[in-house]
Amino acid sequence: MPLTAAARIIRNARHVTAFTGAGISVESGIPPFRGTEGLWNRYDPQSLEMSYFHSHPRESWEVIKKIFYDFFGEARPNDAHRALALMEQHGLLHAVITQNIDNLHQEAGSRNVIEFHGNSQMLLCLDCGARRPAREVDLAVLPPRCTCGGVYKPDFVFFGEMIPEDASMRAFREAELADVFLLIGTTGEVMPASLLPEEAKRHGAMIIEVNTEASNYTTRLTDIFLEGKATAVMRGLRTELLIM
Ligand code: NAD
Repeated sequence: MPLTAAARIIRNARHVTAFTGAGISVESGIPPFRGTEGLWNRYDPQSLEMSYFHSHPRESWEVIKKIFYDFFGEARPNDAHRALALMEQHGLLHAVITQNIDNLHQEAGSRNVIEFHGNSQMLLCLDCGARRPAREVDLAVLPPRCTCGGVYKPDFVFFGEMIPEDASMRAFREAELADVFLLIGTTGEVMPASLLPEEAKRHGAMIIEVNTEASNYTTRLTDIFLEGKATAVMRGLRTELLIM
């Protein structure tokens, strides 16, 4: 049984790191970007391009508000987020590296979370550099502006932006140290995040993957493929790990 084997490997591991993508939050009601139900079938990805944002802040913000503030706002962590938090509490997981910007790992109770692409909960003023929680900013008039007059941008990574240095350093360090890398709900199409499992494998980690379908990693890197929805698989893994 792959679940039993995965649990045994995790129990015997020295350093387990999880790496999550949009798929882990799908059952919390947040669609992924790609695929038939993906957000890019409804919205134009250029709204998240830095050059477009600079030239069309209002148009960008209209899409950003719909996706990340009207839509994400109601989402709550699911059993997969909670299973990772429990694994950490039981000393079975060192860190979660997430590509998601929805804050659901923290809300589930995970403490050591590396946000590779930032977080949608904070806004950053492009003029004075001030940061403010999005919930304190009125999004009725777009683009929202700082008291200094500058345009606010969500404090997550847009296409064409650098990964925050601290998050990148910590994530690649995790990939070096891990002897088990647990991938959940990621296609492996977004660079440079997609390099992390490769890096982990290169340093000798076992790759355990949870996904509803094969990803870019499945045939090349994955040692144990746990096929299914993240919540069901992670509930099963929790039972096998005997953690409540
Ligand atoms: P992706 O959208 O490219 O792919 C999602 C993956 O999840 C696919 O492999 C799909 O098969 C899998 N999946 C779908 N439903 C699943 C389920 N119930 N259980 C397990 N797996 C499931 O996602 P990505 O690779 O993470 O890259 C997209 C980028 O978009 C990321 O960088 C992320 O920052 C961003 N994004 C974030 C959110 C969020 O914060 N929740 C949502 C959409 C996109």
